[in-house]
Amino acid sequence: MATQKDAEARATKGTALITGASSGIGAVYADRLARRGYDLILVARDAKRLAGLAERLARDTGRNIDIVAADLTARPDLHRIEERLRSDTGITMLVNNAGVGATATLIDSDPDSLESMIQLNVVALTRLTSAAVPGFVARRHGVVVNISSIVAVAPELLNGTYSGTKAYVLNLTQSLHHEVSEQGVQVQAVLPGATSTEFWDRAGTPVSALPEQIVMSAAEMVDAALAGLDQQELVTIPSLPDAGDWKTFNDARLALGPNLSHNHAAARYGVAAHVAA
Ligand code: NAP
Repeated sequence: MATQKDAEARATKGTALITGASSGIGAVYADRLARRGYDLILVARDAKRLAGLAERLARDTGRNIDIVAADLTARPDLHRIEERLRSDTGITMLVNNAGVGATATLIDSDPDSLESMIQLNVVALTRLTSAAVPGFVARRHGVVVNISSIVAVAPELLNGTYSGTKAYVLNLTQSLHHEVSEQGVQVQAVLPGATSTEFWDRAGTPVSALPEQIVMSAAEMVDAALAGLDQQELVTIPSLPDAGDWKTFNDARLALGPNLSHNHAAARYGVAAHVAA
């Protein structure tokens, strides 16, 4: 016999739109959010994989799962997803997860593939966020989860364009939090360390080449990220044992604030004073 708790669990929490849901971290988000009571819109290029996942999750959870095959680096596809985010008032969560990386150095990289990475990791994420958030603010209800990376704060690792895109995601999320947290919108940046997914093969280095003690499963990574979301964390680093270490880092950044913009250069540069035009 169905209990009150079952009935509550089955009651929808609205719809979560997840990009990059066909594999890895995005597919785990799909699983976990469906089990938490969300209906889903799953977005990625591989329609067949999305359909297989949607069928399994609909069967296992009874949720409504919609799939949209889209290449988020292609403007017409991206605009379709933006339009869905603007017009579907049932959407209560956006998980900006789709992303690609690279492990080659900048000088060994093809500029076209770097541009495409920026298009996906930065431009698409920005446009989708811009499409979703005004509705969330108007309804005073919504969640944006942005998948960044630990390379956002460790630019010496991997490819500099990749770490730059992920630093952008962190920065945008912190700024967005500042802008909308008082208006009923929760935002979170997730900074995974190395996670066992197809990302590594696609980026040019097999995950088997990494020391196993630094590689987390996608399931554990997402479960920790969702626990961080439940704890209202703005920035979640699943591997970091002491959250105080992030606070210390962030406090050091904030302490720079009063000295980041003055009307004269610092005395240590020894330059003459000029009046700003
Ligand atoms: P993954 O298994 O390769 O997943 C990437 C997802 O993005 C796939 O569903 C892929 O699906 C989708 N995608 C790729 N290009 C796309 C495009 N042009 N348009 C639409 N969707 C596209 O890797 P993952 O590790 O789960 O990556 C998810 C996120 O985690 C990424 O943002 C990545 O930067 C971040 N991250 C990963 C790690 C790690 O070590 N794995 C660490 C830190 C952060 P289709 O191919 O079907 O389009």
